[in-house]
Amino acid sequence: MTATPACGGIGRWQQRADVVVIGVGVAGLTAGLAAHRAGRKVVVLAKTRHAPGTTATHYAQGGIAVVLPGTEDSVAAHVADTVAAGAGLCDEAAVTSIVADGYRAVADLVGAGAHFDTGADGHWSLTREGGHHRRRIIHAGGDATGVEVQRALDEAAGILDIRPQHTAIALLRDDEKITGVLVATPDGPGILHAPSVILATGGLGHLYRATTNPDGATGDGVALALWAGAEVADLEFIQFHPTMLFDGSAGGRRPLITEALRGEGAILRDAAGEAIMAGVHPMADLAPRDVVAAAVDARLRATGADCAYLDARRVPGLARRFPTVTAACRAAGIDPVRQPIPIVPGAHYSCGGVRTDPHGRTTLAGLFAAGEVGRTGMHGANRLASNSLLEGLVVGGRAGVAAAEHALATGPTRARADEPVAPVAVDRAALQRAMSTGASVLRDGAGLAGIAALLAGARPLPVTGRRRFESAALTAVADAVVTAAARRTESRGCHHRSDDPSNAAREVA
Ligand SMILES: Cc1cc2nc3c(=O)[nH]c(=O)nc-3n(C[C@H](O)[C@H](O)[C@H](O)COP(=O)(O)OP(=O)(O)OC[C@H]3O[C@@H](n4cnc5c(N)ncnc54)[C@H](O)[C@@H]3O)c2cc1C
Repeated sequence: MTATPACGGIGRWQQRADVVVIGVGVAGLTAGLAAHRAGRKVVVLAKTRHAPGTTATHYAQGGIAVVLPGTEDSVAAHVADTVAAGAGLCDEAAVTSIVADGYRAVADLVGAGAHFDTGADGHWSLTREGGHHRRRIIHAGGDATGVEVQRALDEAAGILDIRPQHTAIALLRDDEKITGVLVATPDGPGILHAPSVILATGGLGHLYRATTNPDGATGDGVALALWAGAEVADLEFIQFHPTMLFDGSAGGRRPLITEALRGEGAILRDAAGEAIMAGVHPMADLAPRDVVAAAVDARLRATGADCAYLDARRVPGLARRFPTVTAACRAAGIDPVRQPIPIVPGAHYSCGGVRTDPHGRTTLAGLFAAGEVGRTGMHGANRLASNSLLEGLVVGGRAGVAAAEHALATGPTRARADEPVAPVAVDRAALQRAMSTGASVLRDGAGLAGIAALLAGARPLPVTGRRRFESAALTAVADAVVTAAARRTESRGCHHRSDDPSNAAREVA
């Protein structure tokens, strides 16, 4: 099957590469650098300008969870926290493999020029977030970790052939394997022939009206994989971050209020000042994200309030330690040093994605996936805080090596894009409204069926560029998310169903 979106004038230009990487966040650049170091000809695509703020990586605040040698932490302890947060659906072998490789991957990033915050003793400062029983999260610029990770990788990636405003709109394959990518550019579409393609396209937050994700997080990689016939998994597990800034705006990207604030003592309260997490979970405000988001959502439903509050007034040195959060709050007219911060849960992270092994190999030969688009089994039903950058670094690097090896073994391919199929799409705003109502923190069968009915009315939409492609991708991914969510009739991790009678806050010791 060659599921190629109908695209006027397919293949106006044609080029060759050994490895094509789609995405310039932590996973894409780490993968591209690894494949380049392995001696392969690498082309990296970015659908936006390659500039700050265009990747989720740039916005990461809390940090990177990593077990440092010579501390009282251990790989086993980090694995145990990850598996507990994942609510029984993590692949423990994959978790162990990735966690155990974390320090090496972070050391490579430091070798590429990244700097992390240190304490008075000169050692890295470690913070805590929800679900972690140890302080094991390194950070940079206080709460600007992603800015530093992206900066360091961008600088190192100066040696790569990066193509901004190149949107991958179809994966090309023969009966057995990947043969290339169909790419939309401002100068028209073209074909990149390549034996190895790495999806590093990030998340899908824009399935919803409001999200912490950047503009381009429209699930492209999952859609590309689905159309090409690769397996996806765990798509029902969309993580809602408990604390997205509530500023009354209509939607789109909204600032995140990092969980590390709760690691430093901030408390979630309702409009009446009651502590929301008291008595809900033994870890209270530092319970895993799914538990906290569900508790905040439940309190909002019970009280009818528009938002809850994160009271961070007692966090020592708030403005210095959390400059990004402080600036975002002040831009919205709130002084977090003196006022509780208004928050709501927001669509944040896709725990599922394109099924891979811990080296990023998908079920389709020549296709690799790394970072948020991938599903290694690390996150199960709910990702542990700050495990995402870790996974992006580790699996990104491994996928780059594996893709380079595959390209060498396979040799040049000849891609054909001559069997266009018309993708279908529904109106983006209508889809986002429907997903925000029927597939949010709390779902039920009727709400999911409502979205399915909307999707059934999708109409053919010839892909002429990035925006239309994204609408088709969002529609395809919503269909897969809703199908998976409807099939899972239990509540588990970040998939909470109000029509599951056993639905209750999960206890994690
Ligand atoms: C506000 C915020 C805070 C976070 N804080 C943390 C944290 O503290 N710690 C942590 O571990 N995780 C955190 N996360 C999650 C983490 O940042 C992301 O999961 C991770 O950075 C994703 O990296 P990535 O490389 O997979 O994708 P991204 O960094 O999102 O990069 C995706 C890239 O793919 C490109 N792309 C997408 N589709 C196409 C296409 N069709 N064609 C061409 N290019 C395409 C995009 O242009 C972009 O370059 C946070 C996320 C957000 C949004």
